[in-house]
Amino acid sequence: MDARLEAVRDTVLARNPGESEFHQAVVEVFESLGPVHDRHPEFLEAAILERLCEPERQIIFRVPWTDDSGRVQINRGFRVEFNSALGPYKGGLRFHPSVYLGIVKFLGFEQIFKNALTGMPIGGGKGGSDFDPRGRSDAEVMRFCQSFMTELYRHIGEYTDVPAGDIGVGGREIGYLFGQYKRITNRYESGVLTGKGISWGGSLVRPEATGFGTVIFTEEMLKTRGSSFDGQRVVVSGSGNVAINAIAKAQALGATVVACSDSSGYVVDEAGIDVGLLRQVKEVERGRLKDYVLRRSGVSYVEAGSVWDVDATVALPCATQNELDGGAAARLVRNGLLAVGEGANMPSTRDAVAVFQEAGVLFGPGKAANAGGVATSALEMQQNASRDSWSFEHTEQRLTDIMVGIHHRCASTADEYGDPGNYVLGANIGGFVKVADAMLAQGLI
Ligand code: GLU
Repeated sequence: MDARLEAVRDTVLARNPGESEFHQAVVEVFESLGPVHDRHPEFLEAAILERLCEPERQIIFRVPWTDDSGRVQINRGFRVEFNSALGPYKGGLRFHPSVYLGIVKFLGFEQIFKNALTGMPIGGGKGGSDFDPRGRSDAEVMRFCQSFMTELYRHIGEYTDVPAGDIGVGGREIGYLFGQYKRITNRYESGVLTGKGISWGGSLVRPEATGFGTVIFTEEMLKTRGSSFDGQRVVVSGSGNVAINAIAKAQALGATVVACSDSSGYVVDEAGIDVGLLRQVKEVERGRLKDYVLRRSGVSYVEAGSVWDVDATVALPCATQNELDGGAAARLVRNGLLAVGEGANMPSTRDAVAVFQEAGVLFGPGKAANAGGVATSALEMQQNASRDSWSFEHTEQRLTDIMVGIHHRCASTADEYGDPGNYVLGANIGGFVKVADAMLAQGLI
């Protein structure tokens, strides 16, 4: 790492003890930024990096609610409003027992660069709770969401901060959150949340956007090698919203997706995952992957283990952070891997990224490859602001143009900085320069 940046890194790490995921995200970005500071000494003078690593505002709050048996439950809520140089804070809410400040800050930090890369006017933020929606009734989820919003509402707004979904937060949760916001504020402020239902201000394509966008970005990477998804053998991790839509899009482009996973195990389906059945099991019935196996023949289910043991030419990690380590990466490379597109945020460990890059595997980091979700959220905000709603075709075309644009920005930035094909460098520098220029223009705030 560049010596000038090392000192800043050390201060950031010391100031945020115990937040290992945040440290990882910061260090990975810093490793790309040396050459930018050679060209732009003004960024150093204005302490852009120091400011970028310190969230503009961090909110932590108590979320009390009662479960179905009448017992009081207490969870912790978070919203980290990281950077508003380019627009209102924008980023999802994650409800998962692993959530603590370090996770929210890593996600919020990544979101700044991701959102900048989309070319849309959105800043970076993230939030969530250590609430575990698994096994909870709809009524419990509703009471939790209402309590969460009863504190959050005072911090958000269409010009201030616009939350959306992430792991554990989908259409159901956004509905309960929006209802409570509307009730407290007495405002039908559609643009305060994205990921809304289609009849009450949502956007077509938003549910599909993260998975579709990941595949579109990966297809653009494959094109640079004269290849495409057609005929590829694909492994996808996860089986939530991002994974399901990545599977659907990859197969629509002619690939066979032979495996996907959940936290209990993984499925191998050599004929190609049946997306209709997977949607029924996971989205309609809120079931587990095991239920998919019970209803389809010629399929095997591996309890525990790693889905990355299944060989593939294209890997799409769509589950969660640090799910793909150096050992798994080396195994995939040995078995003929061509490309990785990260549908999740930071799913590859730093070791895994190094293995992919050394082997010359096309590697699309999450902050570029999975930006289609938040980009389509920005399209939802645009429709809300104009009280309009667009067709599926028009919105999907906008998403495609945005993903092709992000690929182009990453590739041309990597070329410009003398490291062609390095999408990590391209994404980090491309996102950073845009935010840094805006921060410089807006003075010391
Ligand atoms: N949680 C998604 C992400 O990681 C989407 C955020 C949004 O739509 O605001 O980018």
